[in-house]
Amino acid sequence: MSTSRKDHLGTSSSEPLAVIVIGNGPSGICLSYLLSGYTPYVKPDAIHPHPLLQRKLSEAPGVSILDQDLDYLSEGLEGRCQSPVALLFDTLLRPDTDFGGTTESVLTWKHQKERAIPHVVLGRNLPGGAWHVSGDGRDQGQWMGLPDLQVKDWMQKKRRGLRNSRATAGDIAHYYRDYVAQKGLSHNFVSGAVVTAVEWGPPEPRSPTARDPGPLFQVSGTLSRDHGRQPFSLWARNVVLATGTFDSPARLGVPGEALPFVHHDLSALEAATRAGAVTPASDPVLIVGAGLSAADAVLLARHCGIPVIHAFRRPVDDPGMVFNQLPKMLYPEYHKVHQMMRERSILSPSPYAGYRSLPGHRLLLFKDDCQAVLRDPDGAEAVFGVSLVLVLIGSHPDLSFLPGAGTHLAVDPDQPLSAKRNPVDVDPFTYQSARQEGLYAVGPLAGDNFVRFVQGGALAVASSLRRKEPRQPP
Ligand SMILES: Cc1cc2nc3c(=O)[nH]c(=O)nc-3n(C[C@H](O)[C@H](O)[C@H](O)COP(=O)(O)OP(=O)(O)OC[C@H]3O[C@@H](n4cnc5c(N)ncnc54)[C@H](O)[C@@H]3O)c2cc1C
Repeated sequence: MSTSRKDHLGTSSSEPLAVIVIGNGPSGICLSYLLSGYTPYVKPDAIHPHPLLQRKLSEAPGVSILDQDLDYLSEGLEGRCQSPVALLFDTLLRPDTDFGGTTESVLTWKHQKERAIPHVVLGRNLPGGAWHVSGDGRDQGQWMGLPDLQVKDWMQKKRRGLRNSRATAGDIAHYYRDYVAQKGLSHNFVSGAVVTAVEWGPPEPRSPTARDPGPLFQVSGTLSRDHGRQPFSLWARNVVLATGTFDSPARLGVPGEALPFVHHDLSALEAATRAGAVTPASDPVLIVGAGLSAADAVLLARHCGIPVIHAFRRPVDDPGMVFNQLPKMLYPEYHKVHQMMRERSILSPSPYAGYRSLPGHRLLLFKDDCQAVLRDPDGAEAVFGVSLVLVLIGSHPDLSFLPGAGTHLAVDPDQPLSAKRNPVDVDPFTYQSARQEGLYAVGPLAGDNFVRFVQGGALAVASSLRRKEPRQPP
């Protein structure tokens, strides 16, 4: 992190910045790379395996992707993501990855400092975002890399092989921190900065010197210093929300959920096993949820030999279950959990001693003598003695720093913001909010949920901001 930038923050400058990015995870890092003047061009001799895309790319040789029509280029692409620009950037970086191929990126990167847009990236922790959490990465390393530095090459330099081609969360967090340093982006990053308010007024009146008539945003928060926290306040013409969704775990909303044996974070199980508070001889751990985080918790508990009760509301063969969307070859351990959920159900004749699943069960309450009360699919109540409870049923974006907690920005403003069901409503080719000019959202906030796909949002924002800058040719 740059000391000068921290000092600059400390003075609460009133000179507006072009861009403030809130959040320093993969989305914020990728955007900072693009805003720092790193510009993608198609390699002159590259042939993309997608014939239609190849034809379109060959129509504008020598023109940066950032200066091309992203709508036109992405038209007709299909894949495991809804966003056309996310699919476009992903297929340029990893042309045939979904077919098991390892064709190199068709992009080459030029560092054109004159195209840089001044910006600052604010983040609560060190750069890397959700990767500074516990647990392991779920994807292969190649899908978690950022532009122009492959995770496998970085690992080789570190003289470490990828374990089963899968990187740990610690490896990936380290890779992101190194990426910021290696690409010379550190001076844009301020760690330990928590944004507590973003406010904006009506558009600035036009003046001969005004760059554009957009609104001015005031971004305020606190910055960690040697002796506590210090307030800061900055002004910007554009703000990018890149705060992810992992800071605010979803709750069941049942009585007893605040009891000390009930947790909403996988790290609680790691801490309890490390401390010997939960052992193979303990009462079972109750894991609530049927997503990948709950599956991670089942795998961890089984690895430590700790008995598990696994409760979830849906029937085990519900087609909406995430396990049905993961290729078996790439995610065998998650398919193993799904198989256990099916075969070791309390409803089946011989539940396995160390694990039993409770499909179709709803939590009713937790009692302070470590009991969990559930309702089964027939409406009967079931009571279990447990050593620890992990409620892993997803997480919500926390935009409490915006007016009205940002709910008016969602696709359906009458429903709570949700990465999967009700993200921030953005233009698909600029990622600018449909409700507020100058405000952008990327990553899970905009509905893009994997590292390989959050990078398209960064490309769209960088392309849009470049068009707003009078110094840059369109
Ligand atoms: C256990 C786990 C495993 C995962 N495995 C994979 C995987 O294998 N492959 C994959 O592609 N994806 C995986 N994901 C999802 C992946 O982490 C996200 O897609 C990605 O991190 C989103 O990047 P982001 O930068 O948009 O948000 P984040 O990574 O969530 O980063 C946002 C950052 O903003 C900070 N922030 C939030 N609010 C504020 C504020 N008010 N002020 C300052 N800073 C703030 C947060 O602290 C955080 O550091 C996994 C997630 C988890 C939790």
